[in-house]
Amino acid sequence: MACPGDRAPAPSRSPAAGGGVACPEPLPGTYALVLRNDRAERIEVGRRGSLDLRRGYYVYIGSAFGPGGVRARLSRHWHGGAVRRWHVDYLRAATIPVAAWCSYASIRLEHRWACALETAGRFVPIAGFGCSDCDCRTHLYFCARSPRRLDRLLPVAGCTIMACRLGRPGA
Ligand SMILES: [Zn+2]
Repeated sequence: MACPGDRAPAPSRSPAAGGGVACPEPLPGTYALVLRNDRAERIEVGRRGSLDLRRGYYVYIGSAFGPGGVRARLSRHWHGGAVRRWHVDYLRAATIPVAAWCSYASIRLEHRWACALETAGRFVPIAGFGCSDCDCRTHLYFCARSPRRLDRLLPVAGCTIMACRLGRPGA
């Protein structure tokens, strides 16, 4: 599978890789959202159709290059909402956000991050999720155990990854 975007990103404005937990900044960037699912159930995901959820963790890879950047997008995901625009909105409604990681590199890294999880071994791809406008197989992966140190998996092309502190859902 091709991994689009081979240019190296500009140096990140975030702390050193794996260093610290911070509130996401309103900057453009790429993120990984970890969602926990506590019960097996079937949900509907818009035009994609039904999706059988397993107990465990889902990692969704996305990017936010519009107004408000990563902060606005992760806040939307974190708190959920009535409007379901993206595939992940349907998934979010059935799950609990538990962690987020991001990079403020100036190029879109989500396709490369998807490749990184694809090859990491312990992530199960959920085909056709969140990749309507790219050539990736998916932007969503299932992991039976909590994927804690994504900063060790995702730093492709020299990007810096940081953990985001987002507060409790609904807070
Ligand atoms: Zn992609």
